[in-house]
Amino acid sequence: MLEPIAIPRLARLPGRTTHVVFETHLPEVATLVPVQGEMTLTHEGSYLRVQGRAKTIVTLVCGRCLEHFNQRLEVDTTELIGLDATAANPNTRPAEQELSPDELVEVLPPDGTFDPQQWLHDHVCLAWPLVVRCSPNCPGIPAKAEGELPDPRWAALTSAWPAPVDQNHELQH
Ligand SMILES: [Zn+2]
Repeated sequence: MLEPIAIPRLARLPGRTTHVVFETHLPEVATLVPVQGEMTLTHEGSYLRVQGRAKTIVTLVCGRCLEHFNQRLEVDTTELIGLDATAANPNTRPAEQELSPDELVEVLPPDGTFDPQQWLHDHVCLAWPLVVRCSPNCPGIPAKAEGELPDPRWAALTSAWPAPVDQNHELQH
């Protein structure tokens, strides 16, 4: 588990920066191996700069052939989080920022805490493939060999067809 970081404490650290190396499991994301990586968090006055890199392996189910397969997921991103005293109240419009609002994907109160675990969770989820395919040329569900019935439930139909009367007759004796 990654510990939440108090934003005022971060502002008092040398270089207003902290660096965290982690190897953790995310409670809400099933991964085959722990999520490994590092994160650098810098207090830039009116915003936080979060640089994170992480990798893990997850087991996915192919949307075409329904086979399970393992896939590597990677996070390598820098995010700026605005610091705004009005952030705690979602009904108040944030005050003017130094950066354009497009660059600030999230806003936190300056006396609040940054949750690296949540950040990691969000970014691992963002790294998840939108279309899950075991390979770009997945053939889909394998076709049955010729002559074989596609579904075992249909076997009863064809075997009953040739002589249903005879079979009933024998059963009654
Ligand atoms: Zn597939």
